[in-house]
Amino acid sequence: MIVEIIPCLTDNYSYIIHDKKTNTVSIIDPSEFTRCDEQIKKYKKLDFILNTHHHLDHVGGNLELKKKYNSKILGFELDRNRIPGIDILLKEFQKYKLGNLEFEVIFVPGHTKGHIAFFFNKEKVVFTGDTLFSLGCGRVFEGSHKEMFNSLCKIKSLPTETKVYCGHEYTKSNLNFCLTYDKNNIHLQKKLNYVDEKLKNNLPTIPTTINDEIETNIFLRCDDEEIKQALNLKESSEEEIFSKLRDLKDSF
Ligand code: ZN
Ligand code: FE
Repeated sequence: MIVEIIPCLTDNYSYIIHDKKTNTVSIIDPSEFTRCDEQIKKYKKLDFILNTHHHLDHVGGNLELKKKYNSKILGFELDRNRIPGIDILLKEFQKYKLGNLEFEVIFVPGHTKGHIAFFFNKEKVVFTGDTLFSLGCGRVFEGSHKEMFNSLCKIKSLPTETKVYCGHEYTKSNLNFCLTYDKNNIHLQKKLNYVDEKLKNNLPTIPTTINDEIETNIFLRCDDEEIKQALNLKESSEEEIFSKLRDLKDSF
């Protein structure tokens, strides 16, 4: 499995997945036609377009790419009326093969009502869209804080070595937020150096891993006593801590 990262718009990432054995080419969340097509051209084909959710910065290239390459568009069944050009309606827990590469649909509502993640179990790779970011999580637009918290728990429970590819390059500002309420976390200090080095060289900070996120992403660390203390919420539940952090981040 080869994953190619395509920076799109101002801070979006689209991802090409190439299964070399069967020469199957797929793209996750094509934000815009031109940038994506520049990378797809060399394969001379595009079999599948996958969308994590219906927002324009994730589906903007759908129709033009489908028209040019006659691709099949896959999205969650709940979003059948919101994903442009959708052909194949995916269900929760459904497995689907892109050539030899099989993914499972993980239903992760919160950012939107129909948000899904694509988990490739054999390759240990997950595409999380705007649910889990490196060091952060998406805003809660259509769902509840509770839904988003549960969705993040699902992603957190994936094998720790799983590589995480998310929808945006928000890592640096997320890191600043994490440092505000989790400043003694030594893993965060290390991550700071890593992130600065990548960004200085104009490189993505993606992929991250589930293990890295458990160590550094404050939204996955709502059970941490020091964080609870920093928020002055020592008696609160994990879910309450999450809600508080999400609200604070909205105005950070
Ligand atoms: Zn979005
Ligand atoms: Fe987005």
